[in-house]
Amino acid sequence: MGIVDRFLKFLQSDRIGEGRTNSLMILVRYVDCISILLHFIFFVFLTVRGYFPANMVYLAACGLLIGIFALSYFVKRSDIIVFLVAITAYIVCIIAGPYVGWVLSGYGFMYLTLMLLWFDSSKGMVQKLILTGFIAAVICVLFGVRGANLNIELSNQDYVIMLMVDTVIMSSSISMAAYFLCKDNVADEQKLMQYNAKLKTMAGVDPLTGLMNRRAIGEKFEELLKEETQCITVAMGDIDFFKKVNDTRGHDCGDYVLKSLGLKFQEFMKDKGYVSRWGGEEFVFVFENINGDDAYPMLEQLRRDIEKTQLEFFSHKFSVTMTFGMEEYSPMFGSEEAIKKADEKLYIGKESGRNKVVY
Ligand code: GH3
Ligand code: MG
Ligand code: MG
Repeated sequence: MGIVDRFLKFLQSDRIGEGRTNSLMILVRYVDCISILLHFIFFVFLTVRGYFPANMVYLAACGLLIGIFALSYFVKRSDIIVFLVAITAYIVCIIAGPYVGWVLSGYGFMYLTLMLLWFDSSKGMVQKLILTGFIAAVICVLFGVRGANLNIELSNQDYVIMLMVDTVIMSSSISMAAYFLCKDNVADEQKLMQYNAKLKTMAGVDPLTGLMNRRAIGEKFEELLKEETQCITVAMGDIDFFKKVNDTRGHDCGDYVLKSLGLKFQEFMKDKGYVSRWGGEEFVFVFENINGDDAYPMLEQLRRDIEKTQLEFFSHKFSVTMTFGMEEYSPMFGSEEAIKKADEKLYIGKESGRNKVVY
């Protein structure tokens, strides 16, 4: 593991967890480290250029910022607030004390930390507002007390160089913080969208057969009506004497029959419309743009196909039959009424001997 990786790990070591406050605190530490770096660069720069004892102000600042950094390993609660107050206190010390001037005090980091506080969902609105107001008031008072001018005698060229360094470091740390915050949001949103899509699918799918469930086919039917589909035919199919399958071969065998027929129905309806498990051993078929006269022979074909299909469950060979009732949709009645009429015809089919399609 490289030294950078080791350092990054150290920054996160005690903050491993899913919580937003934890990831924000890691970010606050990054920001603090960059702030230390900035002050150290200023210290080196002023030393090289021969500014004494102003260079020592920045060395002391590094010490203070390292202290704030260390603080984050001891304070476990209300962390960002503690951080923010500590950074503000440091700014006050450096400006009210040796006074190096506004930009060169690195006080932009205070605003950056304040921004991070607003992303912390564990803090209340009132708390955030009070702290924001307090910090603004402290800075205003400092302006009043210390004025706006530099106290260190810097050459114009050196001042410009320090302003440039400050600009580069500040803009990159703001970008870094914003990047990490956006990255989290985008990832959260994507996760939520995936989860929603999964829930939506699960809500409309019958877990045993993988077919649409009653609710999904109802919605699909309504959709077709809204799209002003030319004609719709519905059919209700029910397995004959299914209870016997369960009773003689076991419930698992019953499930196997439902799954096998589900696959067959899906294949059958592929180019015709939609099929759903209505409940138990009943299935509803919705034929899109197929009228009753055309759907009837198709269902007859399916019925014969089922009758001929040999099912095999743990080397027991058997077959089942199904009875269907069908109804062409009419605008005179709604989707529910159409399904009800198909169900009534299915009942007629059951009463008159089963294994047939009643139209
Ligand atoms: P009919 O020809 O009149 O439709 O007779 P039937 O035996 O098929 O009808 P009945 O309503 O008496 O029985 C339906 C059976 O379907 C009863 C129930 O235990 C069974 N069943 C319902 N859902 C499931 C399921 O998910 N798995 C299994 N294995 N059986 C189920
Ligand atoms: Mg049945
Ligand atoms: Mg039934």
